[in-house]
Amino acid sequence: MSEATLLHTDRLTRVRERVSSAGLDAVVISKPQNVRYVTGFTGSAGIAVVTSTQAHLVLDFRYLEQAAVQAPTFGRVYAKGPLIEGVAGVLRDLNVRRAGVEADTMPVGTFQRLQTAVSPGEVAPLEGLDALRWQKSPDEVQTIRRAASIADASFVDVLPLIRPGARERDIAIELEYRMKQRGADRSGFDIIVASGPRSALPHGVASDRVIGPGEFVTIDFGAVVDGYTSDCTRTLVMAPAGDRHREVYHVVLGAQEAALAAVRAGMTGREVDAAARTRIAHAGYAEAFGHSLGHGVGLAVHEGPTLSPREEAVLPPGAVVSVEPGVYLPGWGGVRIEDLVVITEGGCEVLTHLPKTWLEVGA
Ligand code: ZN
Ligand code: ZN
Repeated sequence: MSEATLLHTDRLTRVRERVSSAGLDAVVISKPQNVRYVTGFTGSAGIAVVTSTQAHLVLDFRYLEQAAVQAPTFGRVYAKGPLIEGVAGVLRDLNVRRAGVEADTMPVGTFQRLQTAVSPGEVAPLEGLDALRWQKSPDEVQTIRRAASIADASFVDVLPLIRPGARERDIAIELEYRMKQRGADRSGFDIIVASGPRSALPHGVASDRVIGPGEFVTIDFGAVVDGYTSDCTRTLVMAPAGDRHREVYHVVLGAQEAALAAVRAGMTGREVDAAARTRIAHAGYAEAFGHSLGHGVGLAVHEGPTLSPREEAVLPPGAVVSVEPGVYLPGWGGVRIEDLVVITEGGCEVLTHLPKTWLEVGA
């Protein structure tokens, strides 16, 4: 068996354990990231059906050849019509009584059609499939490390462009171009370049705004390599900076470094979040940090485990998560500093390596 085949056999085993512990006979995997993770197939349309003894991939004609190469351990089922009808056919042929589906991906209409088509069999939501992806293998971490280093180098490329008079959108376009030129498949998400009052918007994608003096500029970006995304944020200040700029920046940096120093395998996401959140609260900015400290990153840019006040899940070694506290003051500006880390038994390894020291442009 090839290395790739062994890898997908192991992942299939873990899926089967999840399915049987949920009291189901089969699972219908439709979320593209989970299809890719479990089967190896990277096409845009394909649904996997897994039972305790069978594993099939339902495809349309475009992907039959690709699936034969990428997912050799899966039987290929050619659906002439909608994929979900092919899925129903497989479930009926295998006499499945109760199949799980990914409720957060499958549209309600599709769920109802499947339910009707497999009757008297049943379909039911299955939770917890995404969690199979939380703990990354050394190879997955290495891929994310490559994505992060491409993104780091590309940011250094565009640094001279980040100055008063530049348009947010032009910085984003150049950063995306550089990432692709350096080997990224694509940008992981719409790049955020948020200046001045817009830096108070945690998700302010690049606009036509021209950067002015005395403003923060927050840039949030990531590169995709072999399907895996990196995620990093840096905030710069355009001269002349004021005392408040300096204060807010160092509150966020202190909180981020406290969380990086605290995080290790075995902690809950809530505990790591608290390491940063208490620092920000003590500085008087509790209300200005309105989002979670971080999220898992991998085949999806936002996945589990999360670092949030509500996350009770324990972080496994090998989980890749972002650590990204922020302080946002509406109408004035904001700061976010984000690194990507892989959790280890004793702490973490930081995968993003751009400096975080106070950077005042034009000073
Ligand atoms: Zn980010
Ligand atoms: Zn992030």
